[in-house]
Formats: sequence, structure tokens, C-alpha cells
Amino acid sequence: MPLSGFTDYHVHTPLCRHAQGWPLEMAQKALALGLDELGFADHNPMPSLFDDWRMLREELPQYLASIEDVRARLPQLPIRLGLEMDYLDGCQSWWEELRSAASWDFWIGSVHYLGDGFEVDNPKYLSRYRDQDPEEIWTAYWARYEECIRSGWFDFMAHPDLPKKFGFVPKGDLRRFYEGSIQALVDTGLAYEVNTAGLRKDCRELYPARGFVALAKEAGVPVLINSDAHAVEELGAGFEATVEMLREVGYTELVRFEAGRRISVPLPASRRAEGAE
Ligand SMILES: [Zn+2]
Ligand SMILES: [Zn+2]
Repeated sequence: MPLSGFTDYHVHTPLCRHAQGWPLEMAQKALALGLDELGFADHNPMPSLFDDWRMLREELPQYLASIEDVRARLPQLPIRLGLEMDYLDGCQSWWEELRSAASWDFWIGSVHYLGDGFEVDNPKYLSRYRDQDPEEIWTAYWARYEECIRSGWFDFMAHPDLPKKFGFVPKGDLRRFYEGSIQALVDTGLAYEVNTAGLRKDCRELYPARGFVALAKEAGVPVLINSDAHAVEELGAGFEATVEMLREVGYTELVRFEAGRRISVPLPASRRAEGAE
């Protein structure tokens, strides 16, 4: 079982209109990989039509039913229910309504949008990266990210340094961007994910970079490893390289979630180091 000891909690479904693999296929793959648990975290619905990459409000029951169906068919695999929540202004009453719509195991706090509607990870906005100093984009993004952490709505944070996706990164030591958010994680007791999707993007690097992970470890911030899978073959991708990196910076535990409760488990051994692949 190549991925026993691991969970993958950041997994999308075709309801977001840019992913393949329905929950049942994902769950079958999770069993084949030997994952201990699988968690779904599709992009949260909004009260009315908002963009073209999330489920509609009317589709939420289908999302919930598709996961219930898999739980019933594959009782041997614990399946956690979550959402990847976009941190946007003026959503509090909607979030309250959403919160009571299901028994969520976790909500992931996520910043894709900056205040002016700019989506930091959408290729549609690539020209912004060419025209604007990455220093400015990163400054705005990290301020927003810290605000998202401090909002108190979320259980863990998604892909910390997402604006590096296309390879536009400010000059110099990037820790100046990380520090505020790491302090916010400490102050609020939140965890963050190492998201392996970055390995599949132009930046060819985990989200977040090792420099963030090392600072977070030093500050005692709990961590998860997630794939952000938008296709069955992406489930659990890059986990072996990630566990090695986490071990090198000194992490010995990962965290899991059940009904919003955080549980610590030992960091699995790196099978690569043991030569077992
Ligand atoms: Zn995301
Ligand atoms: Zn995602």
C-alpha cells in the first residue's frame, strides 16, 4: 500500500466544471493507493452565479449526495466532507447558511481572488503578472491571506504561496512575505496544507516553498499534505517527495480532521528513503 498513513483532503469533483473523476472513482483510486482517508473539498458554491469554476448553489445537494453514496458503497474508506472556501468580502451570512447545510469535517480557507477581482491563479490574468511588479501582487496577496487566517472561519489554509504559480516571484528573501501569515497561524491555532499541485504547474514547486515550511515548523504550526486533485491520476501525487521535505525540516506529525476536530498522527516514513518506492 504505497500511501498508507496518508490522507488526501483537497480533492475536487466535476461539479466545479474543471475537474474529472466523480467521488466514486476518486474513492476507488484512494483505496488502490492505500490512503487512510479521502476528503472532498470542492470550490464552495456562492449564493448566486459568481464565476464559472464552482458548483452552483442548486448543485450543493448533488455534491453532498454523491459523497454519501460513496460512503455507503465503500464503508471501508473513511471519507471526510469539506469545501475549499474562497475568502471574499461580504459573505458571512452566506457562510453561516452553508455551515448549517451539512456536517462538515473541515473548511479550507483559500485566497484566489484579490480585492479587485484579480484571480491570482487564473491564466486569464497572466498579463497582470507581466505588467505589474510581483512585489506588489505578493504584498496584496499575503495581506489577504493573513486576513483569511484571522477571520476564524476555516480549519486549515490552502496553497500558501499560490501567486508563484506562473513563475513570477519577487526578488530577495521571500520570508518577509511569509512571516505575517505564520504568526497568524500561530495566533489562531490553524494548520496549513503542503499542496502538491504546484509541482504540476509552471513554478514546479510545492505550495508553499520550503522556506515557508521551515519557518512554520519552527513556529509549531501543524501541517497536512494534499494533492488538490482535479483528476483521478492526481490523487496522492507528489506525496513521497513532500514527506521527505517535511522530515528534513523537522516535522514528525501530520494532522487530520473529523467533524472539525483536529487529530495528530505520526508523519509516515519516507518509502523512497527506504528504497521501496
Ligand atoms: Zn485553490
Ligand atoms: Zn483546490
